[in-house]
Amino acid sequence: MSHPSPIAASSLNVGGERYAFIDLPSRFGARVHQLPVVLRILLENVLRNTSGAEQDAAVAALFDWLERGSSEAELAFQPGRILMHDTTSTPALVDVAAMRDEVAEAGGDPSILNPVLPVDVSVDHSLAVEAYGRADAAVINMGHEIRRNGERYRFLRWAAGTLNHVRIHPPGTGIMHTINLEQLATVVTTQDLDGVRWAVPDTMIGTDSHTPMINGIGVLGWGVGGLEAETVLFGMPTMLRIPEVVGVKLTGRLRPGVTATDLALTVTHHLRELDVTGSFVEFYGPGVGGLSASERSVVANMAPEYGATTGFFPVDAATVDYLRMTGRSQASLELVEHYCRRNAMWFDPAAEPRYTRTLEIDLAGIAWHVAGPRRPQDLLNYGDTAAALAKVGFQPAQAGELPKHPVAIAAITSCTNTSDPGLLIAAGLLARKARSLGLSVPQWVKTSLAPGSPAAASYLRRAGLLDDLSAVGFDIVGFGCTTCIGNPGPLTEPIRQAQDRHASKAVAILSGNRNFPGRVHPDLELSFIMSPALVIAFGLAGDAERDLSRQPVQTTAAGKPVYLHDLWPQPEEVRAHLARALAAEDFGRDFAQASANPLWHDLEAPSTPRFPWSETSTALRRPPFASRSQGSQLGSYTAWPLMVLGDDVTTDHISPASAIPPDSLVADYLVARGEQRNDLNVFASRRGNWEVMMRAAFHNKTLRNLLAPEAPVAHTLHVPSGDVLPIWDVAERYRAAGEPVVVLAGERYGMGSSRDWAAKGQRLLGIRAVLAVSFERIHRSNLIGMGILPLMMPAEMHPARLMLLPGDRVQVDVPADALRPRASVPVHIIRKNGTTETFSVTAAVETQLECELLRHGGVIPSILRKTLANA
Ligand code: SF4
Repeated sequence: MSHPSPIAASSLNVGGERYAFIDLPSRFGARVHQLPVVLRILLENVLRNTSGAEQDAAVAALFDWLERGSSEAELAFQPGRILMHDTTSTPALVDVAAMRDEVAEAGGDPSILNPVLPVDVSVDHSLAVEAYGRADAAVINMGHEIRRNGERYRFLRWAAGTLNHVRIHPPGTGIMHTINLEQLATVVTTQDLDGVRWAVPDTMIGTDSHTPMINGIGVLGWGVGGLEAETVLFGMPTMLRIPEVVGVKLTGRLRPGVTATDLALTVTHHLRELDVTGSFVEFYGPGVGGLSASERSVVANMAPEYGATTGFFPVDAATVDYLRMTGRSQASLELVEHYCRRNAMWFDPAAEPRYTRTLEIDLAGIAWHVAGPRRPQDLLNYGDTAAALAKVGFQPAQAGELPKHPVAIAAITSCTNTSDPGLLIAAGLLARKARSLGLSVPQWVKTSLAPGSPAAASYLRRAGLLDDLSAVGFDIVGFGCTTCIGNPGPLTEPIRQAQDRHASKAVAILSGNRNFPGRVHPDLELSFIMSPALVIAFGLAGDAERDLSRQPVQTTAAGKPVYLHDLWPQPEEVRAHLARALAAEDFGRDFAQASANPLWHDLEAPSTPRFPWSETSTALRRPPFASRSQGSQLGSYTAWPLMVLGDDVTTDHISPASAIPPDSLVADYLVARGEQRNDLNVFASRRGNWEVMMRAAFHNKTLRNLLAPEAPVAHTLHVPSGDVLPIWDVAERYRAAGEPVVVLAGERYGMGSSRDWAAKGQRLLGIRAVLAVSFERIHRSNLIGMGILPLMMPAEMHPARLMLLPGDRVQVDVPADALRPRASVPVHIIRKNGTTETFSVTAAVETQLECELLRHGGVIPSILRKTLANA
């Protein structure tokens, strides 16, 4: 925190404590109320962290924004903290370890390289559902997790012990965004500077696309790529263009029985239609007050699914109630309320600030919904799954005993829908009714319940619902991401056999947020997202085509049909159980107990300033790109296309997270180094090993490469020889010949998870630029972080229309000193027959800082050069 302008500072007395704060209303009067609340927070941030002409320009630009609701101006945002998970923190911390080696090898002290902001790491992404449907499932799954990931976890323990400001939350403490909501977020935080105690808004970034969940309790934060986080980690601000802010006005109240999940899916559908890509979304209007803060957080969580950077709900009494419910101190609640009221950050349901665009949603018009079977924005009424599956057009090759579309997985999973106690209590009550009628899940359905935090187990137990959930197959399998991140473990044998015989095309049912083909499980193309209670209902049905609005969920042993309305709990039942079950002391106590996980604390970890790499490790390798010698990839060159791709290429396509297939080339590589073919763990767990991850690049069955449509998975065409080879082999041949390569793609390149390995893998393949019709926000930033130039092609040059043929090449002309944000760049397609087509593309580069990073060759060489210059 730098010294703010004295004119802006006032003081606040709360509970006998005196706090200085940046006083927006005193300085700017009524004008500040015209700004959306998210921009008020940005305004406070620049006033606190910048000075002089930079501050004046940022303040002027924020108020100029009121004219048009948009701006071309950039400002420097300095978040207060960083949140990571184990699979994004491992590569980031591996980079830091490798950078320490570089500093030492250049003659410097490796200990000078340290994070300067608090970094919280949740170890949640590696938990897989091996055991399920039994009381000890969580213990068994935790044992497998520690065994498989021990080496990586020792590395994380080295980082926590050696690097400043790094805290690691061990396996079992919960899912990162739930931990953030229940434990880490302060909403208003305090900082001591020169003997003065300041009150400031709690702001953050996270290396996970669902970081905006914290916006549900009024904390401004969003997901960034791991590489952007590395810049912030070392004290640089994150630069952003002042965003467009889309206001979503909520009116009315949710009807009885309609859940926060139904609301989130509805918002996702409408905002995808509106196209809010890259915008901040802020909720306002009288309907907001009828939602609890945990319900708001469900909606905020799905910001990446609706394409927005944030889904912000300002602070009000419901926020304070949530903080109280989760055990925050009375003094902190008072500070939140006094600060927000005093500084124009307390929600006013009647206020109508200026927004770039607005959308109105009547909460009373929302019904029970599901989304899928391939995208979260494809909203359906819960009875319409059969119609949606009919469009898939699957015809069984032979008759089988299972339904045509059996439910393979019924998973209550994801921070999205397991952090709201109301959703879990409703699911438990539905299970209770099902149990009382003797219903159980068919044997082909794999069930799981993985709440966001151990406190959920306490309130479900106190409500007497854990036994009911267990009785219908939904035992707790652990407290981590599991199915939501694609770690559901193996499918049941009946499902595997039915799929192998093409007798069925199975479907996953989950309370997650994403359902792209292969996301949940590599052998499942189809998934529906829904509320936890509906997950149980579909799990009991066992058939994804069942129309639960008309057909029975199941029939009792006595032959009586049981319908969904027989099982669905009444709102007053949910409310009564919530009142009885929730206890503020659970949240802190259960988190502390889980943090003491002995399996974690028993792991031996080195404590040297430099990490001792092992030559034989298959989990951790010093990456070659963490080096000062990495140069800029800008310039004028003629490149071969390495891959030509279509629309909606996700980061899962580019760098998978799911289980490593035992019959893959990646598996061959690991087996040759002593690993067991049937116990290779998931790709995400190998992100500390660049040699594995380079081989994993574009390893996805559903990815179609227009350059070589018939090529096996993760193969492409080496044009000069005509050979179809593994992509990294082709890349190596081009590199050896000194031939540059690029990738061409359609719309929304890099959608999905914020996965820096999707960019790192491309850098290791030697890709200098990606030409796409559009980019998803975080992946675009990650490409730049790795020194790869993202270029936006006009829609008429979509790869499907460009008709690149083997032998065609792409000439790009971007000298380093000519690069500007959104610069026009000439591109020539040099056809094999000698003809040339020329068109202009736009550099998808937003800020001067990004230009500078590209000139350095990426974030890591930039940090290294600065560190060594200051050493
Ligand atoms: S959205 Fe899913 S994968 Fe991401 S943190 Fe939440 S549970 Fe984990």
